[in-house]
Amino acid sequence: MSEYKVLSRKYRPKKLEEVVGQDFAVKTLSNAFAEEKLAHAFLFTGIRGVGKTTIARIIAMGLNCEKEKKPTANPCGICSNCKAILQDRFEDVLEIDAASNTGVDDVREIISSLKYRPSKGNYKVFIIDEVHMLSNSAFNALLKTIEEPPSYVKFIFCTTEMKKIPITIVSRCQKYNLNRVSLLSLCSYLKKIVELEKLNVSRDAITIIVRNSEGSIRDSLTILDQCVLTFNDKNVSAENVNQIIGLTSQSFLLDLFFNIVDGDIVKAVKTLKDIYIKGGNPKQLIEDLLNVTYNLIASIAANTNNEIYEKEKFELIIKKCDIPFLNQIWQMLLKGKEEINRVSHPMEALEVVIIRISYSCKLPSVEEVVRNIKEDNKIELNLNPENNNIGTDIQKILEAFPEGKVLKN
Ligand SMILES: [Zn+2]
Repeated sequence: MSEYKVLSRKYRPKKLEEVVGQDFAVKTLSNAFAEEKLAHAFLFTGIRGVGKTTIARIIAMGLNCEKEKKPTANPCGICSNCKAILQDRFEDVLEIDAASNTGVDDVREIISSLKYRPSKGNYKVFIIDEVHMLSNSAFNALLKTIEEPPSYVKFIFCTTEMKKIPITIVSRCQKYNLNRVSLLSLCSYLKKIVELEKLNVSRDAITIIVRNSEGSIRDSLTILDQCVLTFNDKNVSAENVNQIIGLTSQSFLLDLFFNIVDGDIVKAVKTLKDIYIKGGNPKQLIEDLLNVTYNLIASIAANTNNEIYEKEKFELIIKKCDIPFLNQIWQMLLKGKEEINRVSHPMEALEVVIIRISYSCKLPSVEEVVRNIKEDNKIELNLNPENNNIGTDIQKILEAFPEGKVLKN
């Protein structure tokens, strides 16, 4: 049996042109190679799993590939140098995790090794991952070296936290900011992998994976890997993905949201409890509700169709909402999220939050109240809260929202 390789390793790009979703960085870097304007030190920033160390390794290969006479952005990937670098056993390319080698001694060791020329390749390359973890004294020790290293030495720094790196270091590096990979690129990339692996993954399943990867290629492949391994099957459904991510089924989530905006407290609580029994996690659930709210607002604002949720249920909810109404739900969910994270029984807190929001959705809007009072009582309103003649409905609303203010016309 062949050795199982996780997807993120199996499909790790070996050339710059294979890197997904980083067109700008790839183009700039390719130009730097083509024009032979490579710095002594590179700095790659961006969230986890967008290709920082992958690109770092490609550079290391590009500098040492035997097939090319000068550094190249697209190394062959098959010569003995390229192969050794890919397998992390090339003595001139050293990958260091700064999270576990933070001290000045570690850096001094690197510096003292610089006086020896590369033994096999053309360049010695030091890839320092999570470089922001280095101590101040370690950074200071590095400073002079990266300013004027021997011509055969390159440093490549990778970090998720650019702000923690001293400006003196940053200013001496060629900087590349890797962005989150767009939903669209991530979707089409996953579809390609699914085809290559001969898997049968539903469109919904891919969408859920992509949405939960937050623009990280590695995260998306890890979720796909887990699905295939857990269900021991080439077929992956939306339900499977939800189970892996610990997410509530999208369909139940929309039911819950509909009950809430419909102001149906009894049904909302029942749906919530069903979701909980099926293994829904309250903290995740409130995140999911925020996400639904965001997508509703975005969909209304841009007048576009949503690509993520079940179309019919989503449309049904949209019919009941407008942006101010959704904004109010968003605020209440955010406040609810804080409460849930503070208490020892998050599910109870979530139930209270759901009841509160459903109740507020049942209340008529201030405009409606004003219209009703005007029509029913045929009275002129003085909308000053200090006024004793204030309408009882408005008073109720003010009680429900103590921070609310009634503005005079
Ligand atoms: Zn090569």
